[in-house]
Amino acid sequence: MAPLIDIRDISKSYVTGSFQVHALLNVSVKIEAGEFVALVGPSGSGKSTLLHIMGFLDRPDSGEYYFAGHPTAKLGEGRLAAIRSRMVGFIFQSFHLLKRTTARDNVMLPMVYTGLGTDAKKAMECLKLVGLSDRVKHKSNELSGGQCQRVAIARSLVNDPLVIMADEPTGNLDAASRAEVMQVLKDLNARGLTIVMVTHDEEISGMAARVVRLKDGAIVSDEVRRPSAPAPASSSLLPAARLSFSPSEFLEQLKVAFKAIWSHKTRSALTILGIFIGVGAIISLMTISEGFMKSLLSGASEDDAKKVWVTPRRQHGKPYRRFQMSDVEAIRAGAPLAEKVTPILAREKQISVGDKHVDSRIQTREGFTFEEQKPRDKFFENRKMTGRFFTPAENLDRARVAVINQALAKKLFETGDALNNDIRIGGVSFTVIGVAEDHKAEQIFGGQPTAYIPLKTAAKRVFGAKRLDYIEVTSPSPEDAPEARRQIITALRARRGAREDAADDFEVKTFEAQIEMFKSTMGKLSLVVYSIAGISLLVGGIGIMNIMLVSVTERTREIGLRKALGARNTDILSQFLIEAVVLCMIGGALGVALGFGLGWAAYFFIKIPPTLSMGTISFAFGFSTAIGVGFGFWPALRAAMLDPIEALRYE
Ligand code: ADP
Repeated sequence: MAPLIDIRDISKSYVTGSFQVHALLNVSVKIEAGEFVALVGPSGSGKSTLLHIMGFLDRPDSGEYYFAGHPTAKLGEGRLAAIRSRMVGFIFQSFHLLKRTTARDNVMLPMVYTGLGTDAKKAMECLKLVGLSDRVKHKSNELSGGQCQRVAIARSLVNDPLVIMADEPTGNLDAASRAEVMQVLKDLNARGLTIVMVTHDEEISGMAARVVRLKDGAIVSDEVRRPSAPAPASSSLLPAARLSFSPSEFLEQLKVAFKAIWSHKTRSALTILGIFIGVGAIISLMTISEGFMKSLLSGASEDDAKKVWVTPRRQHGKPYRRFQMSDVEAIRAGAPLAEKVTPILAREKQISVGDKHVDSRIQTREGFTFEEQKPRDKFFENRKMTGRFFTPAENLDRARVAVINQALAKKLFETGDALNNDIRIGGVSFTVIGVAEDHKAEQIFGGQPTAYIPLKTAAKRVFGAKRLDYIEVTSPSPEDAPEARRQIITALRARRGAREDAADDFEVKTFEAQIEMFKSTMGKLSLVVYSIAGISLLVGGIGIMNIMLVSVTERTREIGLRKALGARNTDILSQFLIEAVVLCMIGGALGVALGFGLGWAAYFFIKIPPTLSMGTISFAFGFSTAIGVGFGFWPALRAAMLDPIEALRYE
């Protein structure tokens, strides 16, 4: 059978400054399965370098390394990680246990990187083997040095390695613990496990079966002190590189991410502030504008969609040109699709009770007078009303009667109880005969104080002349509205004798066009909010990147350890990416809550309940993930590319 380790003529040198140090120079050594070898020599003789090469943490500059009969020079990073994971167990001088982590979880760590899932029972068996069954739940800071090293030995055993590589395993221990740890290693070797141990301690090396001495990067003696027990037969096929991520690894990465975030609460909270505010701003705008659209559309019926509004347009340097009844007649005569044409008077006027004055809107329309008592007019159909509406007779008589809305009633009368009281409109006294609920569309703006009076009364008693403010046209169906609009424009232009190229002094809008207008106004507002949010998110993202870089630096040794235990570069990359994404997601989730909260705060001003749709939520999370990946990538890549040995030695 081929030797387990067959090193032929390898060299490794380091260049520091202007001169070259030969850490190893043409070293050859064979180690059979089942041996217990001590690599001894003074400090700087190349022991650790040789051990790292044997354990696939480092590569030689030249020479060949056959492991269990296989050449290893051409193996890729993933393959070497798999060998470290499944065939080699490492023990370090400074233990390298995960902080604040139980003995059991420390022992289970190498299983995360096998891709085969973790097995708590196996971890317990290994702890029992090193005599620590009673310390399973203890955290690393609650164990003595000797116990820590025994946990590390249990960890090195958990994936059934072919060989254990121990780098000064007793270097940090007192005499009693040293004996304890050496006994464990001897027992393991007696069971057939191959052990290669670096030490500078002659007493310790005396416990090994074979002592290989190095000096200045070369082997100076190789002495077998006692024969080794034959190793049990085991598969010597090299494991394939792992290509996928196992669920248990993903879980471990999530756990590590949350632990890292939780153990730096203040730092994490400050880091996600930018994401929190940015996402909050976007979500508040989205929920409000969605709520707006929803209430606009839900308040709208087919009747609204049939309507076409004719309003005056101010032309440059000229006053409004108000409509006259003749314009109404022109539309009636010239636009066949204008089924119902309603002239409307709507103006601002002060309304008073005693010495209370309220700026309000006076509305009147021809349609008001056509129905008795409770008009079937769409304008009032959906509104609750107390009292009654004015009658055609009252219109003809120019009676001074008014229906007012609740917004006005509340402003004029403390109790809001306005019925049968007198109010003054432009100095003329009116009796309130009805109080109507605020119009749905008006509730959006908090209810504009409005009084409705008969058209003839308005024209003769309040405004003096019969000038109209706008004209409401109803077409036969919503589909006819655009064509009705064209007919109205043609009719009005003809009546005005407008020249071909003259601009109109009026505007004709369909309901759909009004919604479009709302959307475009909203779009402009969004642009402002989105750019503020964008800056906040950019700053937040840079904050994430910064903190991730700090986190990578802080955990350099942990990264080295994970690599030694079999983590691939991609495992490290994904771990830090997941941490960045989790951070952003927490910021995003809180941002959604903030945005929705702001939406409800806005409710008190604009009276529209915000709408939080699934789309908005997934947008927020998608966005946060993108920021996490985008800004976390560079730090994660830096972590992934760390050299395992340098990382392990990092102070
Ligand atoms: P030992 O384990 O016997 O103390 P090492 O194998 O750690 O020796 O080092 C052998 C030689 O290589 C030493 O002279 C050391 O200074 C040098 N060396 C080891 N690692 C590096 C490195 N990363 N950069 C430069 N020189 C190094």
